[in-house]
Amino acid sequence: MAMHTAALVLFSGGQDSTTCLAHALSRFERVETIGFDYGQRHHVEMQARLTVLQQLRDQFPAWSPRLGLDHVLDLAVLGQVSETSLTRDMAFRMEATGLPNTFVPGRNLLFLTLAAALAYRRDVQVIVTGVCETDFSGYPDCRDDTMKAMQLALSLGMDKRFLVDTPLMWIDKADTWRMAHDLGQRADPAGGGRRLVDLIIEHTHTCYAGDRSHRHAWGYGCGACPACELRQRGYGVFAGQVT
Ligand code: ZN
Repeated sequence: MAMHTAALVLFSGGQDSTTCLAHALSRFERVETIGFDYGQRHHVEMQARLTVLQQLRDQFPAWSPRLGLDHVLDLAVLGQVSETSLTRDMAFRMEATGLPNTFVPGRNLLFLTLAAALAYRRDVQVIVTGVCETDFSGYPDCRDDTMKAMQLALSLGMDKRFLVDTPLMWIDKADTWRMAHDLGQRADPAGGGRRLVDLIIEHTHTCYAGDRSHRHAWGYGCGACPACELRQRGYGVFAGQVT
């Protein structure tokens, strides 16, 4: 079996994808990142990803040499095929389908296809994504079966063996905080665990409302949207166990 040495991480600047990036940096010699600009209502996400990359370089010298190119693709076209609360100025709510109106149909399929095309060109074998089936939202394009189907379709369609790595698929938000702590600690036994958790708290962005004015123990956010609620609840469980 060929050794996997390089990974491309789908990186949005949020808690999940930052944890996935740490996971990749702990395993692969060369790690690149890809982000998508699709007219998000709040460009805080695009700013957060740059800040997180810089902070990782500054605070984790062991990872810094592995962290390679960051690619940002313009996906404004997504706004032409969907009307959701992430691309338009609409309030977050649940639809009759049981899915939140943040759902852009097939968005992750598109992301993965573009990531694989880039990975092909960059000679990268592993694509890392923070999709999670235990997440509240039940996005069908985040499910494990969807990821396995995509891995097969991309590998066949590009005649290159890709591995779609989903380290968060079966864990909850408390475990995601714990994973970050463990990865940071392994990278730097002198306090790296807490340092990575603090980096995620301070610099990643998850809130659907784009709120960077309210600072909580778990980071910035409105504190009321589903993304904030998940992050807050997970952090509470994690913090109760480590302290
Ligand atoms: Zn929020």
